[in-house]
Amino acid sequence: MEIIKVIPRGFCKGVVRAINIAKQTRDEYPEKNIYILGMLVHNKYVIEALEQYGIKTIENKAKSRLELLDDIPDGVVIFTAHGIHELVKEKALSKGLICVDASCLDVLRTQDMVKKHIQQGYKILYIGKKNHPEASAVCDYNSNIHLIEKETDIHELPHYDKVFVTNQTTMSASDVYELFNITKNKYPNSIISDEICNATSTRQQAIRQLENIDAFIVVGDSSSNNANRLAQIAAENNIKQVYLIDDVNDLSIESIKQLDRVAITAGASTPTYLINQVIHALETNDSTHQEIDIKKIL
Ligand code: SF4
Repeated sequence: MEIIKVIPRGFCKGVVRAINIAKQTRDEYPEKNIYILGMLVHNKYVIEALEQYGIKTIENKAKSRLELLDDIPDGVVIFTAHGIHELVKEKALSKGLICVDASCLDVLRTQDMVKKHIQQGYKILYIGKKNHPEASAVCDYNSNIHLIEKETDIHELPHYDKVFVTNQTTMSASDVYELFNITKNKYPNSIISDEICNATSTRQQAIRQLENIDAFIVVGDSSSNNANRLAQIAAENNIKQVYLIDDVNDLSIESIKQLDRVAITAGASTPTYLINQVIHALETNDSTHQEIDIKKIL
């Protein structure tokens, strides 16, 4: 079996930065309780490794970031790579918490653009995923911003004179471009800004260029939007067997060992250690259970 290791794969610059900020915060405030508001990045092993650094993740899918703050009594709060709404920051400061922002710079640029266009009187159409923290940070609490997930969301909107259209950074490029076109038909004068980040677009592009692949493996957490999009793009690229796996123990060597060409990639929040374990299992045809050493995650 030939194993094609797709490049680039794994941690992006925004994730590396967020993890470094979390570690530096631990060093800077050794005596204080440190909490992350939501998952710093969408990978359960990264969250576990941060716990070992004494950094606690506060997450509850049923609660908004604003509500989650009620579960943090004191100390330092770190905002995740996905960005944060101003109201949440204000509430954290009013509770006396020390705030550390690990928002990715690409996410912040999109947020700034949205703010600027609202000030100029535009209605915002934001293509993203409902309840995803990056989309929530932009869309919640502002009636001038419409979250767009599908074509009908655009058709249901009234006429607007000034429209600015943008998107969550980790969406599938083809899905976003389709919705951009529909928007342009409805609002011919709209301003469109493609905000798929470079890490996302290069990872997606690398998959689209693959040919004659029998099976495709994405190492990544099922809660990660970018990992899910990589699996979606592989399926759209007519690869028959596509697997999204958390770690090496989810790998079914039996179902792929007879195949000729198997490609592997990883979401932007997947640690290199987890990817290498999967590659090693593929190369050695090893289907035995592997220990995941949390100390090697970060
Ligand atoms: S996927 Fe893109 S937007 Fe998200 S953290 Fe990485 S670089 Fe930033």
